[in-house]
Amino acid sequence: MYSEIHTAGISTRCVSAEIRETFKIYNELAGVPFEGFFAALPIDYKAHMAVVVPEPQGGFFYRHYGQAIIAVTGFDMTGKRTTDFNSDVGRFFSQIYERAIAEQQPIFTLHRASHALNVHVWERLVLPFAAEDGEAVVAAVIIPREFKTEFLQSVLASSPDAIFAIRSVRDDECHVVDAMIVAVNDRFARSMGQSVEQVEGRRLREIMPGHWHNEIWPKYVKVIDSRQPDTFETEYRQDGLDGWFRVSMIPLGDGLNVCFTDITELKTALASTEAALRDAEAAREELRRQSFTDHLTGILNRRGFDMELRSLQAEQSRYATQFAVIAIDVDHFKQVNDEHGHVIGDMVLIGVSNVLSDETRAGVDIIGRVGGEEFMVAMPHTTVSDAAILAERLRFKLARTAFYNGRTKFFVTASFGVKQAGRAQPLREILCEVDGALYQAKRAGRNVVVCVDDPVEPEHDSATE
Ligand code: GH3
Ligand code: MG
Ligand code: MG
Repeated sequence: MYSEIHTAGISTRCVSAEIRETFKIYNELAGVPFEGFFAALPIDYKAHMAVVVPEPQGGFFYRHYGQAIIAVTGFDMTGKRTTDFNSDVGRFFSQIYERAIAEQQPIFTLHRASHALNVHVWERLVLPFAAEDGEAVVAAVIIPREFKTEFLQSVLASSPDAIFAIRSVRDDECHVVDAMIVAVNDRFARSMGQSVEQVEGRRLREIMPGHWHNEIWPKYVKVIDSRQPDTFETEYRQDGLDGWFRVSMIPLGDGLNVCFTDITELKTALASTEAALRDAEAAREELRRQSFTDHLTGILNRRGFDMELRSLQAEQSRYATQFAVIAIDVDHFKQVNDEHGHVIGDMVLIGVSNVLSDETRAGVDIIGRVGGEEFMVAMPHTTVSDAAILAERLRFKLARTAFYNGRTKFFVTASFGVKQAGRAQPLREILCEVDGALYQAKRAGRNVVVCVDDPVEPEHDSATE
């Protein structure tokens, strides 16, 4: 049990006027027998006073117990003894009364209420007297200092939540058909644009018609019937409320205590966080895409091509089929740059990439710019002879694609290496072999197609020679 015991600074420590005044009277009438003191007290103060006398066998007998104390505690101690109750409080006060008599000085105490339902903290002034017949008497002024109801009221008043209690209104079959508003807090009444008094006692159907549109009423009925608390979230833009709310429902008698907590800010923050996350994800995806893309031609760069090639090989291994790779290198491209300039050179590279895009199957074949003027094509489910046919077509198309430098028209050619890839062969080896074929094509005079494992002499296209 929480308690404080003070013999000094009593008038400063006490909050109640009754204690302060009684203390003053006690000091003024110092030495007067109890009867004289009690007669001098205003009647209101006597209502807060308990008068006890020591019992020969120990403990104290309550000779008087004020009406104001009875009103708050709900019980009367008159005629009872501190020893009648085996409680901490009873023992505590026996000791205090004994000490007051022994020391012949007033004692001021504060203690937590353990049995009074409505009071948190009591303050008490204990005064020792001698009666006219010399008998020891103790008078205690007992004042509730902090009320539980005050605490609850201040919580309700300061709450940013709209809180209200409802009692079921039942029809003849005892079905809950409506509710009566029993109590509301300030926030709730304000949202209705009314005072607490105006709202209390009204019907829910009348005060909050939005409950029926928002399907909230069945949730209340469920909690009333099941006696189980529940919560839900709802967007509520009616009856003076406007936003997202978390609604807590707690059974209370034949009804509910309902609390609307505004979570609009939370929801908004959540939504914008989600949007920001989506944007960041999209930006990341775009960056990733860019890191695999060649900025000049828009086709895959070396990194992107290698990645696609690796997954193509994995897939082809799974289905036990072959795929083919073509390596392409523009012939004498240095001369193109030298003769026409770097910008025209870039246009040629874009032109080569366009030929590759036009002649291959979109979404099936993989094309990439894997070096300055080097390109590659990978084809799933393709044999070396089919790949050679495609390479030949690419060579032919490119050789006939006209490029312009002002009015001057010019042509470029490219050399091709072709390789059919086996399942188990490492990619590095495949790429090395296809490069070897390309090198042979260069050695053979350029503008030719050379296949790995294909010793057939490359044929020159006389049209472009
Ligand atoms: P070969 O027939 O043996 O392949 O001769 P080549 O001149 O094509 O080969 P080389 O490797 O000597 O030259 C390639 C040139 O490609 C050199 C380089 O300046 C040029 N180049 C590389 N990247 C780009 C680019 O992005 N734009 C332009 N315009 N030129 C580039
Ligand atoms: Mg090169
Ligand atoms: Mg070249």
